[in-house]
Amino acid sequence: METESVHGRGATRPRLLRVDRRPLPGMGVRPRIVIAGGGVAALEALLALRSLLGSIPDIVLIAPRPELAYAPVAVAAPFSTSRPRRFPLAAIAQSHGADWVQDSLVEVDGERRQVRTMFGQRLDYDALVIATGARRRPWLANSIAVRGAGDVDAIRALLTGLEQSGIDELVFAAPPGESATLPLYELALLTAGSIADRGIRGVRLTIVTPETSPLALFGPAAGAIVRQLLADRGIRLILGGYPSVLADGELWLHAAQSIPTDLTVTLGHCEGIGIRGLPHDAEGFIPIDRHARVKEADGVYAAGDGTTFPLKQGGIAAQHADAAAEAIAAAFGAMTKPRPFKPIVRDMLLTGLEPIFLRADISGGAGDSFEVDTEPLWWPPAKIAGRHMGPYLAQQEPWLSPMRLADRTRATLAEEGTLADRRGARELALALARTDAGCQECLAVTG
Ligand SMILES: Cc1cc2nc3c(=O)[nH]c(=O)nc-3n(C[C@H](O)[C@H](O)[C@H](O)COP(=O)(O)OP(=O)(O)OC[C@H]3O[C@@H](n4cnc5c(N)ncnc54)[C@H](O)[C@@H]3O)c2cc1C
Repeated sequence: METESVHGRGATRPRLLRVDRRPLPGMGVRPRIVIAGGGVAALEALLALRSLLGSIPDIVLIAPRPELAYAPVAVAAPFSTSRPRRFPLAAIAQSHGADWVQDSLVEVDGERRQVRTMFGQRLDYDALVIATGARRRPWLANSIAVRGAGDVDAIRALLTGLEQSGIDELVFAAPPGESATLPLYELALLTAGSIADRGIRGVRLTIVTPETSPLALFGPAAGAIVRQLLADRGIRLILGGYPSVLADGELWLHAAQSIPTDLTVTLGHCEGIGIRGLPHDAEGFIPIDRHARVKEADGVYAAGDGTTFPLKQGGIAAQHADAAAEAIAAAFGAMTKPRPFKPIVRDMLLTGLEPIFLRADISGGAGDSFEVDTEPLWWPPAKIAGRHMGPYLAQQEPWLSPMRLADRTRATLAEEGTLADRRGARELALALARTDAGCQECLAVTG
């Protein structure tokens, strides 16, 4: 029997998974936890499980790509000259006493408590965490869909080419039915900053969103601040807009209303992956309870974008993973009262100047409550707020921390002139862009 696990980068076909169990001194075989996925929920689950259960379980991570999936880089990286650091899964797994296997989960056999992978391997589990995310699909023909780290170069090319491209109307359109619209606002705000910094004139930016107020998830105060930010940068905002067709330089919001566009940028629309052997809804999302347990599948947990929870957001994915880890720890007898998932949304809006921190408690009961601040509302103030992964990634990569980022920006600016001078120039450039773009409008699309 082959007992070696796969850690190699870029492997096309993995060697066999470790199917035997390592003994635990004085306790017989170790329980095995399999985590399928290599993104936010998978990382948080790994870290939380190690923190709760120490070295007791064998943990195997099954993920097809060799690096941690971290989508916010798709927004931040194109506007910076340095390339973001990558996080190899092999190293993450190794430093947490886990095995990473480069493969994909395709089927769960709940009766045998066994998973099957794309390469036909089978692996027993005592607990299984499905953290396979969602597919982010293009949904509007002829637009550029931003779906994650793989789109950094496309956005960078778009920005670089803006001067020569003859683009007058650049539209950022949110997918209908998607409440996690924040990256779209960031792309628009950062593009406005980049245009202003480079002195490009004559490009009008428009955001189209189905929301009734900007970043509606975070309540009225955040809405007012974002509305002002967009106005300051001359970005037009169209609320209640449901783009349907993009053709011949027009984006149709419904049968009777269209806006002109030379280029339209969208976010991908999330679709579930649907793992064979597990329940899922019509769109392939896996139903979970408040402890992230998959309904009708003993010992199986799911976390993140791949679940039926409607908000597809990294912090929420991490909270699912934390709930799953505690439920597993309880099932293994390591704790008595696992805490259920209580959704609190934390987002950091990149604006091009200071970031804005947003928090919404949407766990119900006493009603939703909101906070908005330019000071961090959580620590470390990472783009994706996860109890375990936040501190871990901040340690690995200072770039993820806006405080360090601000320090770095200040250090760079100190060489070029005073911060105040530079800010003044930036504000002037933004004001010019605003004049170019015409008055900010806020249309409510009706009908
Ligand atoms: C442009 C953009 C910007 C964003 N910005 C933010 C932000 O600022 N803050 C925030 O909180 N959220 C943000 N998000 C959302 C956030 O990235 C997602 O909600 C989060 O990544 C979901 O985590 P996940 O683990 O469920 O899925 P993912 O992080 O997508 O990870 C899924 C993993 O599963 C792997 N996988 C897929 N299929 C299989 C299989 N069959 N077997 C094994 N592994 C598989 C994938 O390769 C991947 O490693 C952003 C999203 C986008 C697209």
